[in-house]
Amino acid sequence: TSGRASSSETASTTPNDGVEDGLRPFLAKAKGHYWYTTTGTKILDACGGAGVACIGHGRKDVMKAVASQMRRYSYTSYAHFRAQPVVELEEFLVESTGGKMQRVYLLCSGSEAVESSLKLAREYFLWVGQPQRVNFIARWESYHGASLGALSVGGHVARRAPFEPLLQQGRFGRISPCNPYRQRLTNPDGTVESDDQFVERKVAELEQEFQRLGPDTVCAVILEPVVGAALGCAPAVPGYLRAAKQVCDRHGALLILDEVMSGMGRTGSLHAWEQEGIVPDLQTIAKGFGGGYQPASALLVGHKIAGTMKKEGKVFTHGHTYQNHPVVAAAALKVQSIIRDDNLLENVRAQGELLGRLLKERIGEHPNVGDIRGRGLFWGIEFVRDKTTKQPFDPTLQIALQVYKTAMQEMRVLVYTGQGCAGNGKGDHIMIMPAYNISGKLVRELVERV
Ligand code: PMP
Repeated sequence: TSGRASSSETASTTPNDGVEDGLRPFLAKAKGHYWYTTTGTKILDACGGAGVACIGHGRKDVMKAVASQMRRYSYTSYAHFRAQPVVELEEFLVESTGGKMQRVYLLCSGSEAVESSLKLAREYFLWVGQPQRVNFIARWESYHGASLGALSVGGHVARRAPFEPLLQQGRFGRISPCNPYRQRLTNPDGTVESDDQFVERKVAELEQEFQRLGPDTVCAVILEPVVGAALGCAPAVPGYLRAAKQVCDRHGALLILDEVMSGMGRTGSLHAWEQEGIVPDLQTIAKGFGGGYQPASALLVGHKIAGTMKKEGKVFTHGHTYQNHPVVAAAALKVQSIIRDDNLLENVRAQGELLGRLLKERIGEHPNVGDIRGRGLFWGIEFVRDKTTKQPFDPTLQIALQVYKTAMQEMRVLVYTGQGCAGNGKGDHIMIMPAYNISGKLVRELVERV
C-alpha cells in the first residue's frame, strides 16, 4: 500500500520525513490524487486538505491561467479598477444559480464570507427600517469560521472554548443539529420517529427559538446544508431546510446557507440548496470554489437583498483589501470551467454513491463504527465505544486522531479528522472528501486503505 516516488521526484533532506512518527511530514510535491513527501513517500489524498483540492493537485491548466493573469496584472484594488476575470466570475456564479442569486462579493476565506453574510444581513434590516433585527439563530454542532463573529454563530464547542465569552453572548439563538443519527425518538407505539416527524419536531424547536428571542428581533438563521467539520458530513433530513426556510419567511428573517464546505459540487450539485428545493437569501462558498489553487471564497446575495440594493441605491458598508482579487478570480474561473467542461458533477454523484456503498459494506459492521453518512463525495465515519448505545469514546483517547495517524503511517492515506467534537458528547469522526475526478478504481483503493 505504500508507494515510492521516483528519485527525480524526491528532494530528500532528512532520513525520516515524519510520516513514520505520525508527524506532519515535509511535503515535496502534490500531483493528481497524491501527496509526495521529501523522502518519497506517496500518500493517497482522501480529503483534499479540508475538502479543498476538488480537481486534484498540480493542474497545469490552472497554473497557466494563474500565470497568464499575473503577467497581465497580479493585483488591483477593486476600488480603483474593474478586473475582467472578476466580472466573468461574478457572471458565472449568477448564471450557475439560474439568476436566483444576483450579486457576488469575491473574497478570500470561508470565515470572511460568513462574516460578510452576517454583516450584510444586519445592514439590510437597517435599509428596510427594521433596526431591531439584530439576533441570529444557529445550530450547535456547526462550524462557520474562525473570526469572532463567525465563531460566535458557530457551535463548535472546542473551537469556541478559548474565546468565551464570545461577542454578544446571549443574543444568539441556539437550536440542536438536524442529525437523526442520535436524535430520533421512539413513538409511544414503539416505532421509530419518521423523517417527517423528526423534521416537524426540529422545526418546532426553531419556531420556539424565534419566540424566545422575539420573532421581530431575529435577523437571520444560519445553517450548513450538510454539516461538515463539526459533525462529520451530516446531511439535513429531507424537508428540514425547506421547512426552516418557511419559518424564516413567516417571521421576515433571512436564511443564510453556509456552503463553504458543502458547496461548489461537493454534494453532487454545484450548490447544495439545489437538492433541497429552496433558495437562500445569502450563501457562502469557498473550498472547492478555488480548488486550493488560490484562496477563493464568495458571498452570494439573493433577490430580496440585491433588489433593495438596486432599487434604493444601497451599498454594503464592508470591504477587504484583497476583495475581488484578479488572480484569485482567474484561478477560480479555471477550476470552475474544468468542473463544468469535464462533467465532474456527474462523476461526483456516481463515485459518491460507490464510495458510500463500499464504506458501509467494508466497515459498516465494525463494532466501533457508529455511523457512516454523507452525500456526493462528502462522507463521514463516526467512531463510538458502543455501537448500540452510541456511547462515544473517552475524548482524551483522541480516537479520530489515532485513526488519522495510522491511516497516514501504515496505509498511506490522508483522511480529515474531526477531533475536537468528541468533547460535545458525540463520537469522533473522520471525513472522506476526495477530488471530483476520482475514478471508480481509486475509490475502491481508497476504501480498502481506510
Ligand atoms: N464555514 C464552514 C461550513 C466551514 O467548513 C469552514 C471551514 N472549515 C468555514 C466556514 C471557515 O472557512 P475558512 O477556514 O476558509 O475561513
